[in-house]
Amino acid sequence: MRILISVAHPDDPEFFCGGSIARWTREGHTVRYVLLTDGSKGNDDPSIDGPLLVRMRQTEQIAAAAELGVSDIRFLDWQDGELANTLALQQAIAREIRQFKPDIVVSTDPTVLHYGALRVNHNDHRVAGLATADAIFPASGNRMYFPALLEAGFEMHSPTELWFCGATHPNYLVDVSAEIERKIAAMRKHVSQVKQPEQVAQRMRQGILRIRADGSQWQAEAFRRVML
Ligand SMILES: [Zn+2]
Repeated sequence: MRILISVAHPDDPEFFCGGSIARWTREGHTVRYVLLTDGSKGNDDPSIDGPLLVRMRQTEQIAAAAELGVSDIRFLDWQDGELANTLALQQAIAREIRQFKPDIVVSTDPTVLHYGALRVNHNDHRVAGLATADAIFPASGNRMYFPALLEAGFEMHSPTELWFCGATHPNYLVDVSAEIERKIAAMRKHVSQVKQPEQVAQRMRQGILRIRADGSQWQAEAFRRVML
């Protein structure tokens, strides 16, 4: 299968669903990342300016993806923190879908405003999910949408499934027990984003830990899986 990961920031693939990505590549599926923003606001160190941070994060993203078996990455470079669900963004994503022709598209759940009582979900994550959904249906499969794409040779394509990661109401689990250490290795490549990698690794292991009725443990990433 062909799986497109359409998310906002360089590090979102690893944090939201890195175990699943590692499993998919191990099983022989073809995975491409589309990073919508340039990640230029993801650091508060005054010695690092925006353009430097963009280059650092692209380098980190390439290294992290390599840990998960992914080398096919598209950086669309929209402004970090300012993502809006415009027709222009939908067209940019529809172009990626028509070009790659994925069976499954993965994005962040746009319905999640907050995680329980803990924290607010980043606007870019919500917009990424919303714009990706809108790009898939009806736009990428309908010749009347974005005629400039068809004129440029991008034929219509309709994925069969849309999976939302970061969902608070998931309906599907991927067993990533065999991939969790690769997910953590990938997380460690995001040096500009992770100040305390040991603590983050511990949280990653614990956060997706599940216990069977017989007491044995396994690890799973959860998705809201939508059949299209
Ligand atoms: Zn993010």
